[in-house]
Amino acid sequence: MSERLVIIGGGQAAFACAAKLRALNDMRPVTIVSREDAYPYQRPPLSKKYLLGEMSLDRLMFRPVEWYAENAIDVLTGVSAVSLDRSRKRVALSDSQVLDYGNLVFATGSTPRSLPDALTQGLAGIFTIRSFADADRLRPHMEAGKRLLVVGGGYIGLEAASVARHLGLEVTVIEAADRILARVASTATADLFRDIHRAHGVELLEGVGLAALTGEAGKVKGAELSDGRHLDVDLVIAGIGAYAEDGLARAAGIACGSGVTVDECGRTSDPDIYAMGDCAELEWKGRRIRLESVQNAVDQAENVALNLTGAHEAYRPKPWFWSDQYDVKLQIAGFNAGYDETIARPGAREGASSVWYFAGGELIAVDAINDAKAYVVGKKLLDSGRTAHLRDSVANLETDIKSLI
Ligand SMILES: Cc1cc2nc3c(=O)[nH]c(=O)nc-3n(C[C@H](O)[C@H](O)[C@H](O)COP(=O)(O)OP(=O)(O)OC[C@H]3O[C@@H](n4cnc5c(N)ncnc54)[C@H](O)[C@@H]3O)c2cc1C
Repeated sequence: MSERLVIIGGGQAAFACAAKLRALNDMRPVTIVSREDAYPYQRPPLSKKYLLGEMSLDRLMFRPVEWYAENAIDVLTGVSAVSLDRSRKRVALSDSQVLDYGNLVFATGSTPRSLPDALTQGLAGIFTIRSFADADRLRPHMEAGKRLLVVGGGYIGLEAASVARHLGLEVTVIEAADRILARVASTATADLFRDIHRAHGVELLEGVGLAALTGEAGKVKGAELSDGRHLDVDLVIAGIGAYAEDGLARAAGIACGSGVTVDECGRTSDPDIYAMGDCAELEWKGRRIRLESVQNAVDQAENVALNLTGAHEAYRPKPWFWSDQYDVKLQIAGFNAGYDETIARPGAREGASSVWYFAGGELIAVDAINDAKAYVVGKKLLDSGRTAHLRDSVANLETDIKSLI
């Protein structure tokens, strides 16, 4: 019987799991299988400083290549796991290797949704951003004066718009829903970011979809919008969400919902197989959700590592997230699903503010905009579970929020 741990995927969660296992002095053989041509690296800068050209690939890496050899962690790059034989506990790779495993972990992440083929028609100049290779392909097109259409007003689309303005492109963002950030943030937060983008010269259109793209010589040239408008465009970035990379698990008969279904210990319906990070669907306050964030990838991966060593420790997510746009830092503590009330508060400094989310009178999340104090207070309250009876104090703008802790 093999003792080997095979981690499929070589991103944030894969690195965190392998590193934690070694920190726990667990020296079983570990193989990370990564279909990208790189050792594990962080993705958030891909739509921020890396896209801007202010960060190198080396600086994205969690550890230098030698670290993996020093810690006896095999990393196979440029290789995909293609099928799983659970009865023989074997995984087949795209280079024809077959790996035996004792335990296996899915850390396969998520894949950006692409615009439908009927719209893109194979035209060049249409991009998504998930990997450093995607960002490398996109960057040479981000030239001053070019006309960029961003489809989707979520965090990645808005961050790309901000980088593009910084580089001098003309930018239009279209969002099919009635407002930007509709899936992830309150109206108050969306209003603020709409104003910020417009102040930086972005044309931001809400309730407007993409009807057609037109091309010339195989390259995108124009966009027809659902409101009848026509735009001349040189490039398009689609930021329209992502789906879990769970195809391999599904094909192997492992239970999946919106991603690979895991229990509170990160275990899938096969007790020898775990899943973590973006690809995993977990339970959160009675809902089954996926959390696409660095916090979740790291914390869930470390929990899986602990459970691989024989513990039976439940993972209780303490979500946090951030987004950088222009000189604005948004920090989010908590997870706002199911909120029924928001309270906006100005911060102490100019340009600082926060939005506090409540469900049934209980604090569930805080968006802090250039407001580190609100973030720290919100995070402390949420982490400590002291979330009841805060509403009136938060609503009273005379309250110094520090006094809440
Ligand atoms: C542009 C961008 C900006 C972001 N910004 C933020 C941010 O500001 N804050 C934040 O908290 N989060 C941010 N995120 C999200 C965060 O990066 C992810 O939640 C995190 O990377 C998830 O880690 P993961 O290990 O689950 O997946 P990933 O890091 O995506 O790693 C999965 C890896 O598995 C590989 N893989 C998939 N299938 C196979 C297979 N069959 N065989 C081999 N390899 C396979 C994939 O190619 C990929 O390399 C951002 C993401 C992106 C793309």
